Order: sequence, then structure tokens, then C-alpha cells
Amino acid sequence: MKVYNTLTRTKEDFIPQEEGKVKMYVCGPTVYNYIHIGNARPYVVFDTVRRYLEYKGYDVTYIQNFTDVDDKIIKKANEEHSSMEEVSNRFIKEAFTDADGLNVKRATHHPRVTEEMDNIIEMIKTLVENGYAYENDGTVYYNTKQFPEYGKLSKKNLDELIEGASERVDKDDAKKNPTDFVLWKPYKPGEPKWSSPWGEGRPGWHIECSVMAKKYLGDTIDIHAGGEDLIFPHHENEIAQSEAANGKPFSKYWLHNGFIMIDNEKMSKSAGNFFTVREISEQFPYEVIRFFILNGHYRSPLNFSRELMQACQNGLERIKNCNTDLQHYIDNCHDSKLSQAETKLLDELEKYRTQFETAMDDDFNTADAVSAIYELVRFINKNLKENISKEFAEREMELLGKLCGVLGINKEKEKANDEDTAVIEELLAKRTEAKKNKNFAEADAIRDKLTEMGVTIKDTRQGVQWFRG
Ligand SMILES: [Zn+2]
Repeated sequence: MKVYNTLTRTKEDFIPQEEGKVKMYVCGPTVYNYIHIGNARPYVVFDTVRRYLEYKGYDVTYIQNFTDVDDKIIKKANEEHSSMEEVSNRFIKEAFTDADGLNVKRATHHPRVTEEMDNIIEMIKTLVENGYAYENDGTVYYNTKQFPEYGKLSKKNLDELIEGASERVDKDDAKKNPTDFVLWKPYKPGEPKWSSPWGEGRPGWHIECSVMAKKYLGDTIDIHAGGEDLIFPHHENEIAQSEAANGKPFSKYWLHNGFIMIDNEKMSKSAGNFFTVREISEQFPYEVIRFFILNGHYRSPLNFSRELMQACQNGLERIKNCNTDLQHYIDNCHDSKLSQAETKLLDELEKYRTQFETAMDDDFNTADAVSAIYELVRFINKNLKENISKEFAEREMELLGKLCGVLGINKEKEKANDEDTAVIEELLAKRTEAKKNKNFAEADAIRDKLTEMGVTIKDTRQGVQWFRG
């Protein structure tokens, strides 16, 4: 399996430190609003990376944080006369609602900054003691000049960075170097505070990820992931902090997803093309959002548009219909053993598994993996015949289910859907009864009602088949 490592700018063989185990850290959102489509991409992409690693037999420990101390949260709390805690608790809950909708598995741990304060202070103390950080009037800065490798992830040259930063108007004269960044900031009225050796205050943003990765995964992790906008300065700073504090390499592989574009333009609040996942989910089901995200390679920019979403919805529907058809045959076909012709076809079936794995082994190419599923669906549809054996249908179902499971697009129908199913099946039973009694008017009326509910029915020799859409 090859993964593209931002640190080396090359595709490398994936070899975790410990055989069979993967330690993975993904930067999470700052919780002052609903998550937007740009946050949804790393959620879905790295959840899929995790699912594929698990499919390959790895035991994955997955950590994703919530930034629940931040200027934006404080601002929001002040605006609505509530507290930082109230705002962050609310939006953590909402983020879980969206993540669950997107079928993103819960992380092994979801640490929050407010709950990790002792360890944060501990790491800053270590950095000060080691000479990598210094205090000035209640503020603790990281001294970037002390870490010669600063810039190794973003491939930025420290001297050029210093020059660029020193030209900025908002420069901070308390810093030794313009590239130094804040580890701890002093308390200002109206803000939350914690006591520390440098007085009351709160941590800067970057330190939390170094601390949480260390606490839950150890000094060196296998995969650190996030959006490409985090490469500099956030991930560069994480490396500087962790490697200076622990004296060991921080992460073996760095994975970054590309930007989301809206109708070929960069998403921004000012351009008015800024969408939350919740807003989009009102027009398209969550699973379509997930499928849309996986239709592109994670490192390429992804263009979001209504037309592309619609195309993805249709594609997903095709996969789901195939699944429903197949299930119908499994439920109704005679329990016959594989025919000779089917035994031959099994070899062909395996080709789709190989095609899917080849795509995913090549730096998680989900776009090609989706194509492999489409081809599998075509194969299944072509071979769905009245005399198909149960065993053959089950083998096909097993493969389709497994591959869709890696992409997270075969979420069990939700509870509401199940209730819906009970209603549909009751109507279908009534319709069958009406037909048996030659009451065709009633049978037609029930069919119309089902059509209205978005249900299509097909009469086959093995009974009535139905699907949504
Ligand atoms: Zn982070």
C-alpha cells in the first residue's frame, strides 16, 4: 500500500511502527458553528482511510480533537450572552449529529482542550525548560530559531519566513523572531482562564494537538492528517512543539486533503457561497454528501455544485437498487448450489475486489474505487437471472457489501426508514390480497399511493419487488 506523504512529497510504502497497528490523529473543528462542507471533507476522507486500514486488518487507534477554547467561540458566547462552554457543548453535539449522518465512525477518543489543560501546561513547561520557549509578560512564545528543522513540512525557508513576517503591520515586538508563535496567552477580562506558572491565561491553538497526540498515541504516531490549509502554520508548529518536547520524530506520515470549491470558486463567507453540512443535508441526503466527497481523489480540489451532487445521488441510487434487487433474489430464489457457469463467474467477481483494492492501495484513490463498484454493479445486474443460485447471489452480496462498507455508503437504513418499510410492506401485502381477490381497482389505488411515497414496485415471478426512487 502506498500513501502520499506531505513530509517527503512522495508516495511511500505504508509501514506502521508496530506491525498490525496504526496510530492516527486528525485535527478536528473549532466548535463555534455547524460544521461546513470544508470540515466535512477531512471527516469523510480520513474516516474512509481508517475503514480501509481496518479492512486490511489493522487495529486503528483514531484520535480527533475538538477545539473548545478559541477567540471565535468566546466571541459567539459574548454575542448571545451565554458561555464558551454552552456554545462549544452545543456545537459538539451538532457536529456529532452531522458526523453520524455522514456515517463517520466515532473516534477512539474525542479529546477537548478544556479537559487537557494540565498536560498542555506540562508540555509548555518542558519547552521552556529545554530552551525552546520563552516568556514575556505572561505570554509564552515558541522560539522557532531554536528548531533548525522549522519549515520542513511546508518546505518553507525559515529566513524567508522571518523576512516575510517582519514586514507585517500587526507584528508583535515581544517576539524574538517574527515567526515565533504563542503557546500561552495572558488572561483578558471577559475571557476564560486557567492558572499556570506564567500567570492566569489560556493556551494558543497549536499546542493542543501536540499534547493530545502524545497523551493518546505516544511520542511518535503513524499518520497525522487534516486539511491542506493546516500544513502551515498549524502542522509545522505541531512538529516543532512535539519534536522539541519529546526528542523523537512526531509523525511518520502526513496526509492532507485538498480544498472544496463551490461552483469552481473558493468557498468563503464573504462570497456568500459558504454552506454548512446541515444546510446541504436539507436538499440532499447525508449519504449523498459522503458519496460526493469520495467521488474525487482526496488530494485534488473538489468542486461542489448542485449538478454534481445530483449526478452522485443518481449513481448512489444505482448501487442501492442493485443491493435491493440482489437481496430480493437471496430472499426468494431456490436454495440451489452454484451452477458450473456460476463457478466460472466467481473468478470474474474476484476481479472487482482486486480492482477496488488496487485503487485504494494507491494512496486511497476512492474515485477509482467507486468506478470498481460501478463495474461490479453492472456485473451483478447482468447476471441477475431467475435461475440464479442463492449461493452465487450471496457471494455477490458479500462483496458488494464489503466494498461499500469501506466507503461507508451502506449505512443500515435509519430507524425512520425502518418504520417506513413496515408501512410499505403492509401496503404491498394489501395489494397482493386485492389482486388475489380480483379487486384490481384497489390494487391500482395502492400502487398509486406507493408511487406517491416514492416507491417503485416490480412484479416478478418470485413475487413483488420494491425499491425507493
Ligand atoms: Zn491540529
